[in-house]
Amino acid sequence: MASKPRVPAVEGWFTLGETPHLIGAQCRKCQTYFFPKTVTMCSNPSCDSADFDEVELSRTGRIWSYTQNCYAPPQPYVSPEPFEPYTVAAVELSHEKMVVLGQMPRDVDPEGLEAGTEVELVVGTLYEDDQSEYLMWNWKPVEA
Ligand SMILES: [Zn+2]
Repeated sequence: MASKPRVPAVEGWFTLGETPHLIGAQCRKCQTYFFPKTVTMCSNPSCDSADFDEVELSRTGRIWSYTQNCYAPPQPYVSPEPFEPYTVAAVELSHEKMVVLGQMPRDVDPEGLEAGTEVELVVGTLYEDDQSEYLMWNWKPVEA
């Protein structure tokens, strides 16, 4: 049987491939970063720019906070059925210093995590149906 096409679960939020990146936006005037990139006005109170460049964000960061999610998340996150608890991490990107939420791979034991744990962006299967495999970014602890 041919393998199913692998497609992003949310279009335009991250790149695929060997070294996936989140796709963000950067204000041309004050350099503030945004994620996701769908921003219309800069949120910096001292900046009135509406011009942004699309940028690839850092692939690495450190856990700022994390939690075990025991409930199915809201859109655009789609959970496989039946629902299984998983870990969600808020990660401070190493360069941009902005915090981006993401699920962690299901084999990650939250007991082994702590604030400051270094993670990297990987792409994992969020769910699949008869047509395709749907992919989502995950924060995966960097092997020491
Ligand atoms: Zn700005």
